[in-house]
Amino acid sequence: MLRFDSVDMRYADGTSALKTVSLHIPRGQFCVVLGSSGAGKSTLLRMANGLVRPTAGTVHVDGVQVTAASLADIRPRIGMIHQQFNLVLRASVATNVLSGALPALPLWRAMAGLFPEAMRERACELLASVGLQPAHLNRRASELSGGQQQRVGIARAFMLAPPLVLADEPVASLDPQASGEVLELLKRQAAERGTTVLCSLHQVDLARSFADRIVALRDGVLVFDGAPQDFDAAA
Ligand code: ADP
Ligand code: ADP
Repeated sequence: MLRFDSVDMRYADGTSALKTVSLHIPRGQFCVVLGSSGAGKSTLLRMANGLVRPTAGTVHVDGVQVTAASLADIRPRIGMIHQQFNLVLRASVATNVLSGALPALPLWRAMAGLFPEAMRERACELLASVGLQPAHLNRRASELSGGQQQRVGIARAFMLAPPLVLADEPVASLDPQASGEVLELLKRQAAERGTTVLCSLHQVDLARSFADRIVALRDGVLVFDGAPQDFDAAA
């Protein structure tokens, strides 16, 4: 489903963020990328949606190589979840969830905010499935707690039923309780839909609890790839 083959990333200033990373993630797997700040997690995730172009190697999503030309084709197949939630805070919860469908809408419809009725229904279903009530729909996103905002972020990411979801430190801004709840929800959504997830985290305990597989990065090098129970944080 998601393949990185011998990927290198060197930024313009000479920083080597990833060094010959190869990783094949099968459909439906919940794969956690562990690493401390600067290890290369964001760089890896950004390569999957074409925000960062590898200096060597190739990335494939769903059999399609990620290139500038293929992005229009690939982006609707990827849901994104961000550390800072990236909601439009002044907009309603419903509008934020619906915005996850924008890559699939003609520009004029998107600009006019004319979402098909089926999409509105889907947004409601998704919000319910992440534990938000109908009463939340018309609230401004800014009125929600962090944990609730990230639930909206999850609903938005699943709006187009993407085969792949990328979550870049989705719980780094949340307290431990909300972090567990949000990861639980993300994992359940993905399991119900057979979605592949690549999720970066820096907390070993959360990775152990939720991952099907852990890959660990240190200074751009893949230093572990295996089952959560085999991961030794000290190694
Ligand atoms: P995190 O550890 O959560 O990824 P960072 O502070 O490393 O956050 O990065 C935040 C933003 O700054 C990202 O967009 C990243 O690409 C960018 N960034 C990080 N390091 C550099 C750098 N040396 N030069 C330019 N941009 C950088
Ligand atoms: P993580 O997500 O694990 O914190 P990143 O992928 O953000 O790691 O960063 C990996 C390395 O690349 C770090 O040394 C960071 O400073 C550097 N980096 C990230 N983005 C940029 C950028 N836009 N320009 C230069 N260096 C960057």
